[in-house]
Amino acid sequence: MRKIEHIGIAVKNLKESNNLFEKLLGVSAYKEEEVESEGVKTLFFMNGPNKIELLEATKPDSPIAKFLEKKGEGIHHIAFDVEDILAEIDRLKNEGFIVLNETPKKGADNKLVAFLHPKGTNGVLIELCQEIK
Ligand code: ZN
Repeated sequence: MRKIEHIGIAVKNLKESNNLFEKLLGVSAYKEEEVESEGVKTLFFMNGPNKIELLEATKPDSPIAKFLEKKGEGIHHIAFDVEDILAEIDRLKNEGFIVLNETPKKGADNKLVAFLHPKGTNGVLIELCQEIK
């Protein structure tokens, strides 16, 4: 894991949160992207070298909708940038982590992603992401 790539925040209303984070960070989102397979619409903000991802559910049975129902708005995941996602998945599996996607999938912002179950990571959903070149 090289660095934190972004922090994902689950929100109920992307439009309202867009305004809020624009005011908070003093910049506009640089990207809006829907990941249909995940039932999610995302907005990305830069803050210095760091990124914040806002996530809104587009379907009632999507993971974000379920998260909002259970926990309400808030930090949903922390994403780490990795050089080689397959090698990292192997390494973490060997360390005993529960990998939710043994085959990485296409995520937002031009990334291959895989998640670790929060059960094995002190309650924090961890995303591994590798830039697609
Ligand atoms: Zn993410």
